[in-house]
Amino acid sequence: MELKDKVTQLKGVGPKKAQALEKLNIRTLEDMVFFLPRDYEDRRNRLRIGQLAEDMTGAVEARVTMIVPDGYRRGGKQLLRLLVSDDTGSMEVIFFNARYLKNVFKQGESYLFFGKVSRNFGKLQMVHPEFERASEAGSGILAVYPLTKGISQREMRNWQEAVRPLYEKAEDFLSDEMKSANRLCSLRYALENVHFPEEKQSLLEAKYRLIFDELLVLQTGMMAARAAAKEGKDGIAFSRDADISEYIDSLPYSLTEAQSRCVREIEEDLESEKAMNRLVQGDVGSGKTAVAEIALYKAVKSGWQAVLMAPTEILARQHFDGIGSAFRAHGIRVGFLSSSVGAAEKRETLEKIKTGQVQVVIGTHAVIQPEVEFAALGLVITDEQHRFGVRQRVKLREKGRNPNVLVMTATPIPRTLSVVLYGDMDVSVIDQLPPGRQPVRTRSIGQEKRDLCYDFVKKQLEMGRQAYVVTPLIEGSESVDARSALQVSEELRKRFSGYRVSLIHGAMKQAEKDEIMDAFHRGSIDVLVATVVIEVGINVPNATVMVVENAERFGLAQLHQLRGRVGRGREKSYCFLIFEGQSEIAKKRGEIMERSSDGFFIAEEDLKLRGPGEIFGTRQHGLPDLNIADLSRHLKIMNHARGEAKVILEKDPKLESAENSGLKRRITRLFGEDLNLDL
Ligand code: ADP
Ligand code: MG
Repeated sequence: MELKDKVTQLKGVGPKKAQALEKLNIRTLEDMVFFLPRDYEDRRNRLRIGQLAEDMTGAVEARVTMIVPDGYRRGGKQLLRLLVSDDTGSMEVIFFNARYLKNVFKQGESYLFFGKVSRNFGKLQMVHPEFERASEAGSGILAVYPLTKGISQREMRNWQEAVRPLYEKAEDFLSDEMKSANRLCSLRYALENVHFPEEKQSLLEAKYRLIFDELLVLQTGMMAARAAAKEGKDGIAFSRDADISEYIDSLPYSLTEAQSRCVREIEEDLESEKAMNRLVQGDVGSGKTAVAEIALYKAVKSGWQAVLMAPTEILARQHFDGIGSAFRAHGIRVGFLSSSVGAAEKRETLEKIKTGQVQVVIGTHAVIQPEVEFAALGLVITDEQHRFGVRQRVKLREKGRNPNVLVMTATPIPRTLSVVLYGDMDVSVIDQLPPGRQPVRTRSIGQEKRDLCYDFVKKQLEMGRQAYVVTPLIEGSESVDARSALQVSEELRKRFSGYRVSLIHGAMKQAEKDEIMDAFHRGSIDVLVATVVIEVGINVPNATVMVVENAERFGLAQLHQLRGRVGRGREKSYCFLIFEGQSEIAKKRGEIMERSSDGFFIAEEDLKLRGPGEIFGTRQHGLPDLNIADLSRHLKIMNHARGEAKVILEKDPKLESAENSGLKRRITRLFGEDLNLDL
């Protein structure tokens, strides 16, 4: 038996099981060895039913005395109910929506049930416990694996047992020196104790080692790829004679100090031989677009093409309309690309991009499609970059030969994490709003004040202002109890007779959405009822009211983004968050929104309320899926690993030495063959 052998070598793995295992990314025995548990069951203490009390978690061996026939429902769900007992008492075991289990259990047989004890009408219960036939049940601390349909914990545990002899063949890619410096156990010990832990302490040591490994592999891989991408390629230096002041002077306002600083930093980068790699962080409304425009202008004046990619069609259009008309006044030719552009027009635009006639391209992810070829791309910009994955950014950059890169975001990212995500990207912060802005007055209210809220909106309309009303749903739904955009727009049409109320949502045709957004920009729509399609970037300074219906359905960061749609002009602006129900977390969110308009503060609070998973999900940032490490929880280990990664790469930048061959293999495993992850 060897690590590289296929799983079909294992007893009980035929084509069907192999297919199921493939879904878990397990193809070889090595994959099996490195497939880690998601949790553990401590079966060392078997409990008797007589000892059980509410909220205990443990293993109980008991005999099935009755299988209650189906037809029993609760909350519309089909239930399977078992009565089980030992000589100290009896309890119920409940499974929801699991009728197939009916034929799995046999009356009179004994099983081991593992789960949490609850009480229902005084009766002891276990709901959805893990279970095994008592005669086959394992003991000790048992690993629980993240499985897929067609594979049981029991099968997985058997296979894991079968590959145990391979642990000693798994190459320990860390040097003894590094292990002792970081107090790490051997890989063999780690594998042994993560799959078959004897006690909690050894399990912790094992996990620490494996988390460290994963983070080391992640960081070494990203750093090495980054270095390789830069190597031998010079950046593009823009001309010192390309004067941006002419463009800045033509703007309808003067730049804030923060914008000016940011522009200076960018210009310095652009004029240097080194490729620019810069992140601009600025809260909603801080004026990031102007900064991007100036950079685009500099590129064109230096004789290069430039591209700006936005995450939504509406936002891309808005940039095209705004920047496009400003640039035309300077004789700069701007092209637009998105999936909604017709075939003939698209062909023409593509041709002009290829020949260099179009100097600036603005669009959605359509700009990274293979058929888009540039004559001489010198600058790429992504707006609201947190909406894009790593891969999309890389693709955009690959449209040129090491072009200058600028990414813009309103989402604050803790430094520790941005180091991993963006490497050594330089950061500019726009920490100032344009003058004359007043904070948006925010009120979180209950349903009882809804009428008052809309009376207020009406007064604003009478003053010639415009309003947004955002709802969580497009249409009414049976299963979700929340207001829908359709319903609200009907209601508001009646309430605001004499004003133009329009509806916009994600399921509409693009042309229709464009028309509506256009009309709202021009002021020929007064009230725009919308779903979150307007969440990012939209800029209509005359809109002064934002009403969010069922605000409890939105996260804090999202509410902040929505509120950022108003307060963009000189007029005083208002935001009403209408909450349904009294949930604690909703109340807390409302308070935070009333108290603060600082995106960084709000993001931190969001983190506390929602937990880190949602914000730092690797998927959201386009990183490879991690097995055991968690970027939000293991920042400390990450810093350790990062330090070690640097040491390794300083000595051996391309990981060519025999000593690092194991590490290199692990990097390939994590990122896949395509390691050209130029971050
Ligand atoms: P964001 O940073 O959220 O992308 P935008 O670039 O959309 O913000 O700018 C928001 C609004 O502020 C726009 O209406 C823009 O014209 C205006 N603006 C930007 N910079 C300034 C400035 N220096 N002075 C006055 N208004 C500005
Ligand atoms: Mg913006």
